[in-house]
Formats: sequence, C-alpha cells, structure tokens
Amino acid sequence: MCGVFGAYSPSDFVAEEVYLGLSALQHRGQESAGVAWIDGGGRMNSIKGMGLVHEALSQSALSEAPVRSVIGHVRYSTNGSSMLQNAQPICANYARGPVAIAHNGSLTNFNELRTTLENRGAIFQSTGDTEAILQLLAHQPKLKPFDALRNALTEARGAYSLVVLMEEGLVAARDPWGFRPLVLGRRGDNYYVASESCAFGLLGASFVREIEPGEVVLINGKGTSSYRLPIKTDRKWLCSFEYVYFARPDSVIGGQSVYRTRREMGRKLASRDTPKADFVAAFPDSGTTAALGYSEASGMPYESAVVRSRYVGRTFVQPTQKVRELGVRIKLHPCGELFRDREAVLVDDSLVRGTTAGHVVSMIRECKARALHLRISSPPVRYPCFYGIDTPSSGDLAAAGQTTADVARTVGADSLHYLSREDMIEAIGLPPDSLCTACFDGRHPDF
Ligand code: SF4
Repeated sequence: MCGVFGAYSPSDFVAEEVYLGLSALQHRGQESAGVAWIDGGGRMNSIKGMGLVHEALSQSALSEAPVRSVIGHVRYSTNGSSMLQNAQPICANYARGPVAIAHNGSLTNFNELRTTLENRGAIFQSTGDTEAILQLLAHQPKLKPFDALRNALTEARGAYSLVVLMEEGLVAARDPWGFRPLVLGRRGDNYYVASESCAFGLLGASFVREIEPGEVVLINGKGTSSYRLPIKTDRKWLCSFEYVYFARPDSVIGGQSVYRTRREMGRKLASRDTPKADFVAAFPDSGTTAALGYSEASGMPYESAVVRSRYVGRTFVQPTQKVRELGVRIKLHPCGELFRDREAVLVDDSLVRGTTAGHVVSMIRECKARALHLRISSPPVRYPCFYGIDTPSSGDLAAAGQTTADVARTVGADSLHYLSREDMIEAIGLPPDSLCTACFDGRHPDF
C-alpha cells in the first residue's frame, strides 16, 4: 500500500498541488514521501525524505518551483526495507533522457527480473522492486522512453499502479490484473492521476475515470492518449482490502463508494449474529463506518467509546512490530465509564495480526466491562498478500492455523464473529471474478 500522485498542466506550476495531493493520500503510506520533476536543463530532479509529507517535503519550496509536470509518492514499505534509498519516486537520467517512477503495488517476479537484469550488467541502487521497471526501460536504448516503458511492463507480473514522468509527458499505467486503484482527474486543461479519487477534492479537480487494468495513458500538450498492454487475463483482481481498510471512505473505487461499502459490511455482519449488548462501539477510525452500519441493522445504539488520538499514525502501516505495539496504546484509549458494568459489541474492519485488538480489549477489561463481543467486518485473514501489502508470511496472521474461538481467547474477547467472504463480496457489489480475495481464501492469481 503506497500512494501515487501526478499532475500535468500546460500553463500552471503544479508542484504544490502534488504536495497537497500526496497529503490527501497520506493514509496510504507514512514512511517516506517524495516528488520528482524535470528541470529547465532537461535533468530529472527529486526531493525525498522520511516521515509524513509535511516532514519529508517543504510546501513553501514546492509552491515556488516553476514546474508544470510533477509526480509524487507516499511510501509504506512492502518490498525493500525502510530507508531513504527506497523512497520514491525513483529517478534516472539515462541515454534517452530523464525518467522518474512512483509505484503502488509489488512485482511478484521481481527476483527473476533482478537476476536477469544483473546478468545483463544492471547495478541496482535500491532493494525495492520498482527499480526493476526502470532498469527494464533503460535496457532498451533504441526505443523512445514511452515505448520502452510499455515494453518493460509486458515483462512485469503482479501489482503496479504507476505514475511515470518523462520528456514525452506524464504517464499513468495499471497492471492488467487491476490490483490497485488508479484514477484520472481534471481541472480545466490540468490533468491529475492519483491512487484514490479523494485526492482530487482538495484541488478542485473532478474525477474523470479510472485508469483501466492493462491501460497506459500518456498525458501531454496533446491531451491524453490511451494504449493497451498486450497481456490477456481471464479475470480481474481488484484488491477487496481496499474497501475493507486501505482506501479513504470518501473515495470511489471500481464505481463503488468506499463509505457505503463499509456501512453495508457492518449491516451484513449484524444481520448474521447480534449478541444482546448495551451498545456498539468501533475501533476508530478504521472500524467506525462498519460500526455505524452494525448499529443501524442491530438497533443497538452507537457510542464513540474508544477514542483515537488524532496525531498518531495508523499502526498497521508502521513497519516494525515494536512500533506497532507501542503505537496502539498511544493511539487508542477507551472511555472507562461507558464500559464499566456494561456489555459492548466492538467492531473493527479487520483482524490481521491481532495486536491492536488484543491491546484495546485488555484496556477495556481494565475498565471492568461486563462482556466484550468482537465483530470484524471482513473475513479472517489467513494467507499472505504478494501484491503490495505487508503480510508476507502466514506466521504473522492471527487467524492462520487458529480457530475463531482460539483467536477470541488470544485477544481476550468473550465472542468473535467475522463477516463471511460471500457477504463481503455482496457488500462491495462487484462481480466475484473481478476481486482479489486471496488473503482471505488463499486463491492467489496464477500469472
Ligand atoms: Fe488485497 Fe488481500 Fe488480494 Fe492482497 S491478497 S491484493 S490484500 S485482497
């Protein structure tokens, strides 16, 4: 999970807009941020830093940058360790000119690509997979950069939603399986590309359309030109977890409102099993929308009984277990008097490692709650994701190899119930063969 953003304007300076767009995508990655642009001398330039957008980048410096085409990235580490070297966009000035790439997703054939490229003499600067795309492109010096990019992408497998900057223009590209979202926006003659539509509102830009799976769009002074990658797929694999957790609720993905989908997930969860409790509460903010749906369908009142500090990042996107564990207590805290001698349903969007649930349940137990029923508005996560999410091995996953009753005991809840895979798909409202559900059911795509 990372966020990518790109802006092209025939007349306006857009670096500050990219800063704002990245800020709107901050929930997709908090480890590093960066921007890249081509300077007046035709060289690629970039600024990258560790931390949140406002820590990594200077808004005032960008507001004065005289550049009309800029790309940016917020990173959450999956492939490659947490260090500045792996911050994106990754940039190069090669034989055919300047190129910069910002990538959301993970290439499943990165190791093969890297070995092949190293055998051809490539020297990798980072440990991330995005550099493989850049190296594949640079190893075709006879082709113009845009044609070399399209060729390079035919060799990549797995998940990539890209914004790329080159002299021919701003490029948006999405893998043929369509794992991660990527959308096109417009304000007047200015074009914007973003991981999620929520980034357009801040700029007064309107949503134009999604970049289709397998589509490569070139944006420049001639407008937009669309191309197809020559890779056939029998179905699509849009990540269902985008609806469960990753995306912002004010985004629309695959034509479906993330907010409405989460609310429906909560409603469906309540329709299957409703313990008699005094109230419904959420793990804020990720479980709030589903908890509202649960409250609506169950008739139990909703209470904002767990408080979230606004100034601490979401723990799931922190890269180490130690930071994650510390983060939960800093971030979430129960209102003790609401729980004392009462029975509550606690709703969260997902239960991945179980760290957050365990800490929150134990804090609520300290408030002398009578009973706590944990309800999860997605199915148990039992399998790893290889497409851009940091759940690399089943050993990290609370539900892998454990029954639901075991997980309930581990996190200290009196009962635990998950949304079924079928109900999740129905709540999303897209055909089952257009969604990836691999981390829930182990049905990984065969490339
Ligand atoms: Fe999304 Fe899960 Fe598929 Fe990964 S495995 S792309 S998290 S649905």
